[in-house]
Parts: sequence; C-alpha cells; structure tokens
Amino acid sequence: MAKSDVKAPAKEKAAKSASDNGKTKAASKSDITVAEKLVELYRLQYIDSQVDKIRIQRGELPLEVQDLEDEVEGLDTRLKKLQDELGEMEVQVSEKNNLIKDAKAQIKKYEGQQAKVRNNREYDSLTKEVEFQNLEIQLAEKRIKEAKAQIETKKAIVEESKTRHDERKKDLDVKRKELDAIVAETEKEEKDLAKKSDTASKHIEARLLSAYHRIRSNARNGLGVVPVERGSCGGCFNSIPPQRQLDISSHKKVIVCEHCGRILVDDYVVERVTGGK
Ligand SMILES: [Zn+2]
Repeated sequence: MAKSDVKAPAKEKAAKSASDNGKTKAASKSDITVAEKLVELYRLQYIDSQVDKIRIQRGELPLEVQDLEDEVEGLDTRLKKLQDELGEMEVQVSEKNNLIKDAKAQIKKYEGQQAKVRNNREYDSLTKEVEFQNLEIQLAEKRIKEAKAQIETKKAIVEESKTRHDERKKDLDVKRKELDAIVAETEKEEKDLAKKSDTASKHIEARLLSAYHRIRSNARNGLGVVPVERGSCGGCFNSIPPQRQLDISSHKKVIVCEHCGRILVDDYVVERVTGGK
C-alpha cells in the first residue's frame, strides 16, 4: 500500500460524511451518479448470480444422472456376463454327468463280456477297460464337485450384483425425476431472469458493462461486483485498507479490489438492491 493512500483524518471525516449522506441521498450530484451506477451494476450482478445458481444446481445433476446411468449399464453388462458364465458351467456339469452315464453303461457292457470270455488275457483286458472307465467317472465327479462350488460362488456374486443394480436403478430414477422437475421448474425462472438481466444491462454504460463481463468471465465464481464484507473483498477475501474502504463508501468513483480486480460496493449499494435482505 502506497503511503499517499493514507489520508489525513480530516479527509476521512469528509469521506465518512459523504457515505452517511449517501444513505439520505443528500450527497452531491456526481456522488449520486456513481452511486446509482454501482447500484445498477450490483443489481445486474445480483440477477446474474441467481442465473448462475440455477445453472450450477442443474449443472451437477445431469452429471450425477449420467454417472448412475453408466453404473447401471455396467452392472447390466456384468450380470449378463456372469449369467452366461453360469450357463456355461451348468452345461459342463451336465456334460460330465452324461460322461458318467456313458462310462457306467460301458462298464456294464464290459462286465457282461467278461462273463463270456474264453481266456484270462481277454478277461484282464476287459478288467483294465473297466478300471479305466471307473477312473473317468472319478475324474468327472471331481470336476462336477469343483464346478458346483464355483457355481455357488458365482450365484452369490450374481445376487450381490442384482441388489446393487436394483439400488442404483432406484437412485437413478429418483435423480432423473429430480432433474426433470428442476428443468421444468427453472426454465421459466431462468427466462425471466435473463429478461431482467437484459433490462438491468440497459441501465449501465457500455464501458462499465464490458468491464463487468470481463471481470465476471475471469472469476471462477462469476462475481464481477462484490460487497465489502468486514473490511475485506467479498470476492477474494483479501483485506481492504481503511482509506480504500472510505473511498468505496464515498461513491466518488468506481473502485476495484487491488488483489482480484473485482468492482467493490458498500452496504449502501447492496441494500439498495437487496432491500436489506
Ligand atoms: Zn478481491
């Protein structure tokens, strides 16, 4: 802060009385002009902020709906894949069961043949065949047991996924309805505010208006005009030196925050727009 900005108490008093007079509208003509400019500018900001609020409110909801749609779709795909896998495993089990049935039939056939054999060599050969089929049966039974355990695990996962899917689907329906309601509800409000914003803009000189739009578009929170709040800038929250605060209240010229460049207004301007709300 430059030293020249710290003014003598006499000047401070004058500035203070000017700000006091601002409230009673007894300040000089040029003071009123700047004050009125600031009021119109803050009125525009007040309207535009309401539009921003609506857009932000809606801006997050479509994203949430989109996320839920993606999740439900993902769970759908996962469920379908799991069910395909389950089907495949059940086919495998029934194939192994058929294999066992065939092996048992083979064994019966070999045992029948054993009753009719003429020598030991033929008998032993058939015994070996029977042993082989028995091993096949054992192996198939082992595979069936394994597959059944896997099927049980998979079924539990399917149930879990189904529950999750249904929950998300319910969330999605709620959010979708919410979004539809907000869009329907705010459509008219947004249009009305846009009209008000247009009207308010007409009361502001072009140079100031373009400055407002420039500052606003550079600010993340869409604020181009901010009130002084407890001696700090309402936009960037950096403190404002006392003399600068007095200059703001004196309404002699448009004053911007030296940190963020936003146009600063005092309580008088704010109350003129908000009615003290
Ligand atoms: Zn600031």
